[in-house]
Amino acid sequence: MSMPDQHMHTNFSPDADETATFESYIEQAELQGISSLTFTDHVDLDTPVSLFQIIPDYYAYRTRLNQLQKNTNVTLNMGVEIGYQPHLNEAYDTFLNAHNFDFIIMSIHVGDGLDFYNGDFFKEKTQEKAFQRYFEIVLNAVKNYDHYDVVGHLDYIIRYALETNDYDFKAYQPMIDEILNIIIEKQKGIELNMSGLRYGLKHTHPKLDLIKRYQALGGEIITLGSDAHHPKDYRADFDQGIALLKTAGFDKITVFKQRKKHFITI
Ligand SMILES: [Zn+2]
Ligand SMILES: [Zn+2]
Repeated sequence: MSMPDQHMHTNFSPDADETATFESYIEQAELQGISSLTFTDHVDLDTPVSLFQIIPDYYAYRTRLNQLQKNTNVTLNMGVEIGYQPHLNEAYDTFLNAHNFDFIIMSIHVGDGLDFYNGDFFKEKTQEKAFQRYFEIVLNAVKNYDHYDVVGHLDYIIRYALETNDYDFKAYQPMIDEILNIIIEKQKGIELNMSGLRYGLKHTHPKLDLIKRYQALGGEIITLGSDAHHPKDYRADFDQGIALLKTAGFDKITVFKQRKKHFITI
């Protein structure tokens, strides 16, 4: 079975390529024989990064998807990737309740009001302290917010590290266990995000140690996503992703439609 991609950005996301149109992904899905597409454009409320302050018009977005749906057999799902920050619970609830999303990824792109991407978060911290703080922020997010389906690209902080793009899993395991146990208890999930490999990292987000740990603790809900910002990256490295999931002990991935879970055997 050809696995659908559940993390991709169209040109509605400010950092995606202009060729990343709905049509270009539909064409790819039709060519590859994939039955559904789940678009997950960025919504980062109150972000310090000016590029991401543009929020797509989701009324127009839905209308466009409904139009396109008439001309394709590929099921078009409207997902979203929200950039969580602790003061935004109400604002995200209002936004998410206004739109009938099929799938919600909760990602942490900013910590303590500081951006990861531009390096601000790492200033005046050792790398170890920065990683530690990142996992604390994720822990607070999963404790305090439930309006989502999966946590996006766990351990993604390493991508922007100034020294090494890796971490000693054992050193952070107590906190990671706490994060994963809450996710499992609340019947949420995580994603296997393949984009790290395209950024020259040796690892996916999260890395294999963490995926194995999630499985060992009883985690069953895991989606697979490329995090494509360009149609050429649609389903990128999926063979590797599926092999990795099997290595970690998974025999199925989860696909969301109207916020409901469906399982596909891998
Ligand atoms: Zn993200
Ligand atoms: Zn993304």
